[in-house]
Formats: sequence, structure tokens, C-alpha cells
Amino acid sequence: MSKISEYSRDAFMSIAKVVTSTDLHYFGYITEVKSAINLLRSKGLEADRATSRGTYEDMLSKLTGWLATTYEALDGDLADISTSMSMSPFHLLTENAKVGAPAWSVLPVVTCGGAGTCKSYCYSLKAWRNPAAVGRQIQNTIIARLATTCSRYRVAFMQIMEDEIKKWGRKRHARKHIRLHVDGDMWTVEYLKMWAEIVASCPDSMVYTYTKAFEVWSEYDRLYGSITLPENLRVRLSTDHRYGNADVVRLVEHMHTTVGYFHTYTHANARDARVCGYMAECEGGCKACNYKCASRIGDIWVEIH
Ligand code: SF4
Repeated sequence: MSKISEYSRDAFMSIAKVVTSTDLHYFGYITEVKSAINLLRSKGLEADRATSRGTYEDMLSKLTGWLATTYEALDGDLADISTSMSMSPFHLLTENAKVGAPAWSVLPVVTCGGAGTCKSYCYSLKAWRNPAAVGRQIQNTIIARLATTCSRYRVAFMQIMEDEIKKWGRKRHARKHIRLHVDGDMWTVEYLKMWAEIVASCPDSMVYTYTKAFEVWSEYDRLYGSITLPENLRVRLSTDHRYGNADVVRLVEHMHTTVGYFHTYTHANARDARVCGYMAECEGGCKACNYKCASRIGDIWVEIH
């Protein structure tokens, strides 16, 4: 597997900023995305250039090919859009070993408007060593961005995602848990609204997410009322957010979908963490703990080694 260079990391971050841009109409947007990826192909990844599978070059080649199909499909009907989405080079949902549940992710940092200090050490950026991981994040962010700006694309995405979630749910009981955002966060209220509707259409699945994007949830509450969020959406709040003690914090704490906070502690302050009496130990494997993040009401504490 190719190693990611610092230059490549900067270049991926440039793409991330383009694909999450909210001030472009989708035709202008997709042109921008294509030119950003082409720039990266021509300059940023010379050292990684290779023809074998699983390299950055291979990933970018797949993405640009798929973008061309997507661009044409936007002029077509719903079936054309659905077909282009089903030809996306990376699975929309993927299952990683630790989480053990299918997960949807988008690009980290640029979608994390509520993040605090974690932006400086974001664990998700480590996944950029893996071309498929960064490729999936870019692809899913583009799909999400198009789905929140183009109504036909939104209909196609919602149908495909509903089918995907139900398909995983039929496989095994554990697959009824779906994780939103191993990487990234709710970055616009339109995006949250779309997910709320998808989750509502899959009542047999438990969809859980971690979030620091308190302003987005607050805006949803203002526009639609948080009471309209589906019961099978479980929201765990992360402590490293940037809102201090602002009103939005109390608002998200009291949503009916909020199950509690996710805290981290070090060996040095473990005693304080345990004293609180709400501690659930993370054993490092989500299947083993039976997804307490989704099902347990109350805070969860995890030791950082
Ligand atoms: S919220 Fe999570 S994904 Fe976003 S910057 Fe922080 S650690 Fe990274």
C-alpha cells in the first residue's frame, strides 16, 4: 500500500474543502470537484503513481471516472442518477473490525463544525493512509453534497440507502445497528433532515451517531422541532465540542434522541471518572459490548491509553 505523504495530506484537505463547499450550485460544484481531483492526480501524487490496485492513483482514477458518469446522469432522469450512484467505486456502507456494524462516513474535519481541539489530532485522518478509506470519504461526501442540493439526487440516495440499511438488517441481528459517522459529523441541517427521513423509513434498524455538531441539531429543532427526529435514531454527545456552556448544549442534551455523553479519561483521572457512577467500560469491541453506545441511556467513559 502506498504511504501518504504530507503533501498528499494537504492535497486531500484541499479536495475536502472543495467537496464540502456550500456556495456552489451542483453543476458548478461537480466541475470544481473534478478539477480538484485532476489537479491532485497531475501534481500531488506523483510519488504514489502506480498502476496496481489499491493505490492512491487507482483510487483517484476510479473517482474521476465515476464523477464523469455522475455528471452525465445529472442531465438524465431518476433511473440514470440511481444507476450512477450504484456504480460508485466504493461501498456506501462499510463494516470495520472494531465497530462491527455497517457504517456511513464522510470526510472528517471539514464536516465537523462543532469539533473542539480534536481537529488538531483527528484520529480519522490516520485512515488517509488507506487509499480506499479516503476515496470512500470523498465519494460519500460528494454524494451527500449532491443529495442536499439536487432533489432528484436526494430521492435516489434516500431509496438506495434505505435498501442498503434493510439489506444489512436482514443479514444478522447485529447488523440492525447502523453507525453514522465513524468519520465526520452532521454538517448541515439539510443533511441531518435527509438522514432523519432515511432512519424513519427503517424502523427495524437502530441507527446511532456521535456528534459535536450541536448547532446543526439546534437549527433542526428551530426549523422542524427535534421531537420529529425518529425514535430509532440514537445520538451520543461527544465532550470535546466548541460550545462551552452555550444554550445549544442544553438543547441537545434534552432531545429525546440523546442517550448521553461519551467521555474519555486517562489512567491519572480514572478515579474521578469512576466516582461519577455512570461509567460503562468500553472493551474495545462494539459487538462484544452489544452496542451500549446506541442502547445504553447514560454516559459512557472510555480510557485513553
Ligand atoms: S469530530 Fe471526530 S472526525 Fe471530526 S475532527 Fe473531531 S475527531 Fe475528527
